[in-house]
Amino acid sequence: MESAAKTDVDFERVTRWIERYFADPHRYRVMPSVRPGDVAGALPASPPEAGEPFDAIFDDFERIVVPATTQWKHPRFFAYFATSAAPVAVAAEALAATLDVKAMLWRTSPAATELEEVALRWLGGLLGIALDWTGVIYDTASIAGFTALAAAREALGLEIRHEGMTGRDLPALRVYITDETHSHVEKAAIALGIGQRNVVRVPCDAEFRMSPDALRDSIEADLKAGFRPMAIVATVGTTSTTSIDPVPALAEIARRHKVWLHVDAAYAGIAAILPEFRGLLAGAERADSLVVNPHKWMFVPMDCSALFVKDAALLRRTFSLIPEYLSVPEADALNYMDYGLQLGRRFRALKLWFVLRHFGAEGIRARLREHIGLAQEFARWVEATPDWEILAPHPLSVVCFRYAPRLAESELERLNASVMHAVNATGEAFISHTKIDGKYALRLAIGNLRTERSDVEVAWELLRRAAKSQSPS
Ligand SMILES: *Cc1c(COP(=O)(O)O)cnc(C)c1O
Repeated sequence: MESAAKTDVDFERVTRWIERYFADPHRYRVMPSVRPGDVAGALPASPPEAGEPFDAIFDDFERIVVPATTQWKHPRFFAYFATSAAPVAVAAEALAATLDVKAMLWRTSPAATELEEVALRWLGGLLGIALDWTGVIYDTASIAGFTALAAAREALGLEIRHEGMTGRDLPALRVYITDETHSHVEKAAIALGIGQRNVVRVPCDAEFRMSPDALRDSIEADLKAGFRPMAIVATVGTTSTTSIDPVPALAEIARRHKVWLHVDAAYAGIAAILPEFRGLLAGAERADSLVVNPHKWMFVPMDCSALFVKDAALLRRTFSLIPEYLSVPEADALNYMDYGLQLGRRFRALKLWFVLRHFGAEGIRARLREHIGLAQEFARWVEATPDWEILAPHPLSVVCFRYAPRLAESELERLNASVMHAVNATGEAFISHTKIDGKYALRLAIGNLRTERSDVEVAWELLRRAAKSQSPS
């Protein structure tokens, strides 16, 4: 057996590789040129009988894995939501993996538990979240949202935790979203026994924001029909266009009808760290829960999603279940296993704490401003160019646009899809698409620490070149 002291793991080779990776961010194609099955086909059907030398494993990492990896760290990754892991956070991840604590009870992880409290109090302070709210880290906004909706169900006082939802007479529970809401809310409704058909899609205004009047009408009609409104999910920064639901007006309706309000600010909430964008979270102080993703726009690697809740005792009541082997003498200590489905939890607070200290609030603000500025500049280039158009307001770092020469709508969809595929096939930049009011839209998202103006210029040049070559002549 190998002992730790005798390991052949060449940590220096790993470190050198990581340093080189960060030093030369344009080194790889953004989208690898591989086909489905290529990676699996390059690997043997079964694991080796005898252990292999570390160098052989690492050689294959470099030869097979890296070239088949979509490079989310590439400065010209503009698809979905562009993210980036700061080197300091990668160092923290290596240390967290080394300590490998299971942060479930305070006693299994005193530092991980208390660092999570501190780092989330710091983050909450930067976002203007009230001190009496409680922050908990989950892997993703999807799981944080599921957790918030489970608490919303518990808050109804219908004894669902004990009695369940089947074999008894309960009203249908209703959750209010819009067509722009992230799909995890519907998945949570499926998992919580609420049912997809009880997820109500409230109409939006012309700028893709939930209409408060329509919400009020939906809730009142549901009450008349004998349904039980359970939760409203407001989005600050929707996935397609980064539109911002009118949280203050929605909070008023939530309060009047005693309905849980969850604010999904996974991407855009981080921008509230900027004084000029503090208004993004206006009204959130009257919500019941709020999620932001440091792994999306705050330079922390996947995964780190921060849920803030007003009533931590309710969240504990929803999930706390203590078998004998986990009962502890520290009666008043914080045990994060009481706040969700997961028992063992990674030491995710370490990378968040490293990032907050490394950049400082000023450093984070400077990067966010740079990203927003680059997106606004790109939008101006699109606006100023004949045959190109902007398709939605772009208050933050995402721009939805398309190439729109005078052609039929169905032609434009085909044309823009082929422009996107042509750009992505170069390996020089990577963008994605969405649909807005039925129109096929190209989508450029900026959020990478290493993206510079010259990278955005290259993307714009590639787009115009592709538009010319893909146009019907
Ligand atoms: C990205 C995003 C999500 C999903 O985040 P995960 O952490 O990947 O689950 C949910 N909602 C919004 C608004 C998002 O931008």
